[in-house]
Amino acid sequence: MFTKEQKSLLNKSRIKLEFLTEEKVFKIAERAINVDSLSDDQLVEFLEIANATYRGGYQFITDEDYDSIYLAELKKRRPKHPFLQVVEPEAVFTGKKVELPVEMLSTEKAYSRKEVERWIKRLRKAAKDIGIYDKKLSILITPKLDGFAAYYDGKHLYTRGNGKRGTDVTRAIERGLAVCGDGKRVRGAGEIVVETEYFKKYLSKYFDNSRNFQAAILAEKKADARVQRAIDKKAAIFMPFSQLPTWRGEVSTLIENFENVVAKVWAYVDYDVDGVVLEATNKSLKKYLGATRHHHRWQIAFKENIENAEVKILNVVHQTSRSGRVNPVVEIEPTRLSGATIRKVTAHNYKIVEKEGIGTGAIIELVRSGLVIPKIENVKKPSKPSIPRICPSCQSKLIWDGDYLICPNTLECPAQIENTMEHFFKTLGNIDGFGEKTINKLFINGVTTVLQIYRMGVEDFQKMKCGKEDAETNSKNVNCFGPKQSKNMVDELRRSKIDPIEDWRFLAAFGVFRMGGGNCEKLLRHYRLLDVFDLEESKIAEVEGFAEVTAKAIVSGLKKIRRQFMNLYELEFDLQITLLFSELKEAGIISEISGKQVVFTGSMTSGKRAEMEAEARKLGAKVSSSVSKKTDYLVTGENVGETKISAAKSKGVKVISENQYLRLIGKE
Ligand SMILES: [Zn+2]
Repeated sequence: MFTKEQKSLLNKSRIKLEFLTEEKVFKIAERAINVDSLSDDQLVEFLEIANATYRGGYQFITDEDYDSIYLAELKKRRPKHPFLQVVEPEAVFTGKKVELPVEMLSTEKAYSRKEVERWIKRLRKAAKDIGIYDKKLSILITPKLDGFAAYYDGKHLYTRGNGKRGTDVTRAIERGLAVCGDGKRVRGAGEIVVETEYFKKYLSKYFDNSRNFQAAILAEKKADARVQRAIDKKAAIFMPFSQLPTWRGEVSTLIENFENVVAKVWAYVDYDVDGVVLEATNKSLKKYLGATRHHHRWQIAFKENIENAEVKILNVVHQTSRSGRVNPVVEIEPTRLSGATIRKVTAHNYKIVEKEGIGTGAIIELVRSGLVIPKIENVKKPSKPSIPRICPSCQSKLIWDGDYLICPNTLECPAQIENTMEHFFKTLGNIDGFGEKTINKLFINGVTTVLQIYRMGVEDFQKMKCGKEDAETNSKNVNCFGPKQSKNMVDELRRSKIDPIEDWRFLAAFGVFRMGGGNCEKLLRHYRLLDVFDLEESKIAEVEGFAEVTAKAIVSGLKKIRRQFMNLYELEFDLQITLLFSELKEAGIISEISGKQVVFTGSMTSGKRAEMEAEARKLGAKVSSSVSKKTDYLVTGENVGETKISAAKSKGVKVISENQYLRLIGKE
């Protein structure tokens, strides 16, 4: 959950949670929610939140993740989105707002050598346009400081703000913040930085990260003693870009020695560096190239984005999931890939483990493509794998089911029981305090069903004793939950019944195979909650999106949980009934476009495109930004090229005009 500081930053930046909940924000950050499942609005809201907390010094995702996962996703989906067209806003600092002497733009970023080469190609082309010889095309490279952007005019210090207007934070200079190269009448844009070693040694215990500290330098209230000391010792300074050590050379030299040059420049300074900045030096070329509202075209930042790595396997851990399937979890040497540290990766199943030789000591090639879940690309040096014979949780003999190993002890296996209970609360999503650790404590005390948990009172929690089974100290006398915690837990349980919850979510919480949230909702658009338990396979298979195999799995899965379900159902959760399709149609809530995938293109005349998209979503349509085979309708506004239309038609997409669309949704 957000800290006090983060909340205050969001308030100051006037960011409200409209499309996300606080919980969802953190799930996205932890990758528990896949970024491509977010709507555009949710993605942008997440970016706004991440940016505000980052710029304010209280970030919760890394800069690399911000760029390479979330911003990259928006760029991929909506390259023209307004959020990408301007400098990201900065959390409001207290102080006078001023027009900056020079506009401070952002920097375009490249994550691969290829992207840098494309940029160089653009430079060369532009150079040719204005008659500059290639030979004279020289490039200047400086370390890319990971600090706090600001502007010093020789007297005053300003934050970068929105690039045009910043906040006067001269108080930092008054506190003694040194300007590198001062005495030489230095001025210009730069960054507030702190020596990496100094931060590690003296500050890292007190500040989450260096940004956190940099923001503290600008704080309105008196600087704390540690901040003041760092300023006095000149460990923290303002570094104008003009004072940075540079590499300068011709394009051809750079291309030949790219890796070496980058490594060299990277190590030029003792501050945190997260890349290098390359820029053209020729004045007329710079002028010719100009800038977008976001960045100068003659400048680019190169940030490393390693996507492949060879790593050693430390251990393969066997984990029994709630379905009884045992999963091989591969623990590896901590490895940085695309800005995140990877410690674990899944090997999917034991047939693969056996065949490929995925065991302790093996060397594997890891790939993090699409920047989401890292996977094992191939095994470079196999080693003897260990295939478990018994369940790591209950010691039952495992059985093969296709490529998978299964623990058949469904009713008593601790891992299956605990994971099932955990899954319930996680899916319900409206209750705190029932995570893995708590569930384990409850299980040790004989609790094996969610129903039991809901029947517990404060005293029941308080009575529970914990401690490791094999502890020499026989610490079984320790209370699992204190009096206050016990009361909280009972309150939470009660609240989870009072807070309204969608009936499909409630059903999904039971974890029936093939009955995730999406499928549950789909089914409940056709049948009422209690009726689904009496459905025959054929009825389920009739519903769009359910294959026969799925229908079969659902019927047998529902049968297994029926009693448990009814028991919990009788506790009277405040279930919100999913409206049936027939009801939605009657009420005029859905129309022809419900459930259809719609793409809007061109400029619309009846309203803003974004508003029309939002309306379409409300009517149940899936709105996407590009045409694919899955697209049902391409709604064309004005000025749409013939090629775009015929391309869509060739994919079998219905192309309709704006007016036809309005008729479709009953607006005309
Ligand atoms: Zn088991």
